[in-house]
Amino acid sequence: EIPSMQKKIVLLGDSSVGKSSLVFKFVKDQFFENQEPTIGASFLTKTVPQNSHEVKLQIWDTAGQERYESLAPMYYRSASGALVVYDINDKQTFKKAKFWIKELISNGENGVIIFLVANKSDLEHNVDSVEASKYCEENGLFYFETSAKTGHNVVEVFTSMASQFEYVPPPKKKK
Ligand code: GDP
Repeated sequence: EIPSMQKKIVLLGDSSVGKSSLVFKFVKDQFFENQEPTIGASFLTKTVPQNSHEVKLQIWDTAGQERYESLAPMYYRSASGALVVYDINDKQTFKKAKFWIKELISNGENGVIIFLVANKSDLEHNVDSVEASKYCEENGLFYFETSAKTGHNVVEVFTSMASQFEYVPPPKKKK
């Protein structure tokens, strides 16, 4: 039997940037033009195989609306990884992403792995990719461009996240 570890990851970002859509696309391979807004938060799990082990990702999707913002720390505080998502078509959502990144760096788990995710790459790019990747370089983050609609880079984002977590084998029992 292949060893397994469970890791909690969280999606943060403005409402309507496509957080739920990314999770649905990855976990169920489905995309909805009228994705229902997330109320509060919910999670789905998916197992990602690695060479020596498997990672059970517990993926928490949070609501982006301001009125739920105060709840976010409850979800990201114990997360090993975070996908901070914005809409590449909408500059305002990039600002919000930078806000969440600051929050994570100051209040998140020590060593939390942060990916900046520019979603809706199928639409016009109103946020400059060079600016976003430079921001990531300066802050030690990973940068991805995705489309939940076309599926571009969706599997890659989640599997790259899973591969960031070091597997520590349990100590061998003495006979
Ligand atoms: P959330 O509030 O961040 O969870 O965003 P949703 O997943 O609810 O998506 C908001 C809207 O954007 C929905 O109408 C989705 O169909 C649409 N959407 C999500 N991802 C994409 C994408 O990659 N491309 C396009 N064109 N639309 C998307």
